[in-house]
Order: sequence, then structure tokens, then C-alpha cells
Amino acid sequence: MKINGTRLMEQMYHLGTIGFEEGKGMTRMSYSPDFFKGTEYVKGLMEDAGLSVTEDAVGNVYGILRGSDENAKIIAFGSHLDSVPGGGIYDGPVGVLSAVECVRTLKEYNYIPRHSLQVISFIEEEGNVIGGLFGSRCATGHMPDNADLANMKMHGLTIEDVERSRIDPSRYECFMEVHIEQSQNLELSGTQIGVVGGIVGIVRYKAVMTGFANHAGTTPMRLRDDALEKSCAVITDLLERVRSTGNTMVGTVGVLNISPGAANVIPGTVEFIIELRDREMEGMYRLAEELQRDYAERGLTLTKILEQKNVPCDARVIDAMETACDGLELSHMKLYSGAGHDMMNMGRLMPGGMIFIPSKDGISHRAEEYSKPEDIINGANVLLRTILTLDEA
Ligand SMILES: [Zn+2]
Repeated sequence: MKINGTRLMEQMYHLGTIGFEEGKGMTRMSYSPDFFKGTEYVKGLMEDAGLSVTEDAVGNVYGILRGSDENAKIIAFGSHLDSVPGGGIYDGPVGVLSAVECVRTLKEYNYIPRHSLQVISFIEEEGNVIGGLFGSRCATGHMPDNADLANMKMHGLTIEDVERSRIDPSRYECFMEVHIEQSQNLELSGTQIGVVGGIVGIVRYKAVMTGFANHAGTTPMRLRDDALEKSCAVITDLLERVRSTGNTMVGTVGVLNISPGAANVIPGTVEFIIELRDREMEGMYRLAEELQRDYAERGLTLTKILEQKNVPCDARVIDAMETACDGLELSHMKLYSGAGHDMMNMGRLMPGGMIFIPSKDGISHRAEEYSKPEDIINGANVLLRTILTLDEA
């Protein structure tokens, strides 16, 4: 059984015209007229595929095909329809349209699933209107933060809407998402499919290095306690330590403030933000502890300001996806996502999985974003086979 690739690509390109402007790219921001136009189009496709369509109070769209076994849990799959301003046509829609196409194919083959199959199109994944992953956060029971609340108000959304949008995770077997890789691992290695092992965790620390601000002309070098000089040593050492952990952790210092910040004053205090990302949290915590311990005497203090736990994908879902690739004779590799996705929220409450397809030159969130039709079709076929495997298990 295979999906209809021509039909899938026609839908991709049609949806790709809604909100697209030549030279500017795709701007289909959540709650905008173009967004709703795109959603209406996809709802129509869902109905054509035989799905019963509902929309929750914040704008997530669900299409369900009832399974034959009432006691079997829902197998869900999908992605998002919103874009960043000036983005591409693939980020999000690849996952939603593949999902609809899979159900339509099953229907055409008169396949009656045992589990109910649900296509989910989340709203506001990109987060430029209300907040990142807003739709899937509402579905998975996260309460909005203060920034979300202010933005929600502008779109007439209330806390009650958020509460009413919550799904019952105990009814779900799993959630799966097909997505463009937005990186170059697949392309550079000539691999057709990425089976995602998980979404990386993130920690951020505010680092404060204390020195002694003094006259830049009259203080001899040997008598200085220069906070910037010491910070440079810490940052270089930090990045070396990240490198030596192997090739999974990444570390970045992207913000640095010097006080008092004058050309003729020795830096007295330097504040910078260390961001670490890795497949698991422990190595990052350990690295930060070691750095703090080794530089405490020289004036370094680290304070954790953000922590986003890694989300591993489910072993059984991963296995079904890899088996699907093998069955379709597609080359595949295990990847970890450095970006957040709706699966991140769903995967914390139920078994989750993701299928990545190659992105040309690793470019995304801009008009040049591109994935080949054959790769999109491959991704949808892997999803189809995975659904069949999980349904028959
Ligand atoms: Zn996306």
C-alpha cells in the first residue's frame, strides 16, 4: 500500500500559495485571514478523506476516523499549519498533509483500522503571535504564561478556551509527526529518512564574572582584576569542554554585557548567557557544575535561568518507523532534533515519534526552504507503514 504522491504534492503546492508572496515567502501567521483560509482548505481535505472534523477553542483542528475496536486507543499524527513571517511552504504542512493523505489512502484501500486514527493540525507552533507551541501546549494541559495571556487577549482568547482545549492523553496510543529536518545531516550523508530519537533538552545559565573596575590608564597590567579577561578564559574553556564531550552537546554564548562599559574603564562585571543543548540533561548539568567549581574562586557565579527537559521518542514507535523504512528500502539514520516541535509536548504525555525528511542546504524559516517531492512522498509512505504496523500490533 502506498500513498498517492501526485495528489499529495498538488495539495502541498496549493496550500503553499495561501499566504505566499513572491520575493517575501510564506506568511501564514496563526489567527490571520490567510491562516484560516489554509485551515479551511485542509479541513476540506480531511472531510474528503473521510475524517470527522472538529476544532477546539484555541484553533487546533482534529480529524478522526473511528476504529473498529472501541477499546483501542487513538493513533494520532500531524503537525502545524502556521508559518513564521517570510518562511517557507514546507515547515508544518508536510506533516499535516502527509497525515491526511495516509488516512485517505487507507480509506481507498478499504482498510478498516482497529484503532481510531486522528489527524491533528496544531495552531501557533511557531510562536510569533501568542507563544511557541501554543496549540500543542493547550492540548497537553500547559497553562499560558503572562506573555501568552497578553497576546491571547488580542485574539479574543481566554483561560477557559485553553482549559477547554485539553485532550485526555490516556485515550492516546501515540502521536507521530513528519517534518522537514531543517538541518543538513540527511542531505550531507545522502540519507533519505531521519528517524528521530528525541528532542534535545536545553539549559541556560546566567553567568556573572566579578572583577574590579578601575582606571584603564593608570592601573598597571599586573594589578588588574579584569572581569572580561577572566570571562574570555571561561568561555573558551567552556566551549572546549563542550567539544570534548563528543559530538552531541552544543554550547553557545550569544549574549554578553560588560559593566560599566566604557573604553577607559577596566571591566568590573561581565554577565553572559551560556546555553547548552543535548540529548540528555545529565551531561549539561555536570558540565555547568564543573565550570562553577573550577572558576568560583576567580569570581564566577552561574544561575540556571531556563530548563527545558529533553523528550525522548518512544522505542516501539522508533522501531516501527525503522522497520517501515527497511520495508520501503529507504536509507535511514537516527537523528536528534535541536528544534522544538509539537511532538515535544505530546511526547511528554504519550509515546511519540518523528520522521524527518531532507531539507535542501539545511535552510528553513525562509522563502528558500525546499524539500524534494520524492522525499516528501517517502516521508508520507513511512508514516503510512508505521500507522499500519502500530494498528496491527
Ligand atoms: Zn515546524
